[in-house]
Amino acid sequence: MNQQTAKSDEDMERRLAAYVGRQYGAIYAWDRVNAPMIRHWAEALDYDYPLLDPEIAKSTRHRELVAPASMLQVWLMPGLKNQRLPVLTCPTPRTFQDSGRARLYRHHRNGLRPGIFPRPLKVGELITTSTIVEKVSERKNTRLGPGYFTTFLQEYHDEQGGVVGTMRLRILRYHPEGQRLKQLPARPAPPQPGISQDTAQFWEGLKQNKLLIQKCSDCGTLIHPPEPVCRNCQSLDLGTIEASGKGTVFSFVVAHHPKVAAFDYPHPIGLVELDEGVRIVAPLTGVDPGEIEIGMKVVVEFDNVEGQNRLPKFRPS
Ligand code: ZN
Repeated sequence: MNQQTAKSDEDMERRLAAYVGRQYGAIYAWDRVNAPMIRHWAEALDYDYPLLDPEIAKSTRHRELVAPASMLQVWLMPGLKNQRLPVLTCPTPRTFQDSGRARLYRHHRNGLRPGIFPRPLKVGELITTSTIVEKVSERKNTRLGPGYFTTFLQEYHDEQGGVVGTMRLRILRYHPEGQRLKQLPARPAPPQPGISQDTAQFWEGLKQNKLLIQKCSDCGTLIHPPEPVCRNCQSLDLGTIEASGKGTVFSFVVAHHPKVAAFDYPHPIGLVELDEGVRIVAPLTGVDPGEIEIGMKVVVEFDNVEGQNRLPKFRPS
């Protein structure tokens, strides 16, 4: 570390230390504690919250719906547009961050310690939060780079000023110096199919550039994807025929998002009705996604990449 860097580190440490013990906030919740938010939250977390049933809520010692304690932070979330209803009495966390931004421009949430919830929140209550910068560590050399652990104490209050919850949050702000830029991995292989006893014949056929379709030996029904039992007559006697590979686009989608690294985007995927009468899902190739039309004639071709399962795809014929 040269002299100038050491001096600016000292400067920054002094400025960071000045925030310790200071409080910012209060910040008001946008909405009072309310049942719809509790219900949406429980749904989003797949949490079958029993008190949403009014009968059960009445039978508890609270005698009414109360919000789950673990939902405390939700009432103060700034939302997608990062909007708040602040009543500021002290510097905001933004100011705190700015003082270190020039040199510490990444942060890592180091841990949210279990909160303390003296009492549950009732529907209709309005809460506020305030935060105290409790502690800034000395400079630490971490695996991510040199930085400082900062501990924030968040207190939640009701309208009478009573504490309804406290939480501690520790954040590492660090400079990623010395971190090697990670090399981008080579393009990964596409996800490989799950092959079962029932579908093995189909995948074996592809190895020989054959599109094999399951056919019931008893009633002649064609089945795709392959199944263990004929869907028409429940026969277990199932064979295959080789399809011509010709068909028409019955339907299609053009995938844009989310992207899987193995594929090019936009990624058109067709539901192709084979001339034999069954439908098969496979990528469409050799056509601009904007030009694909339902009813378009297509023909199969086979992807052959060393070490991977051969996959069918269809291009305009
Ligand atoms: Zn059958």
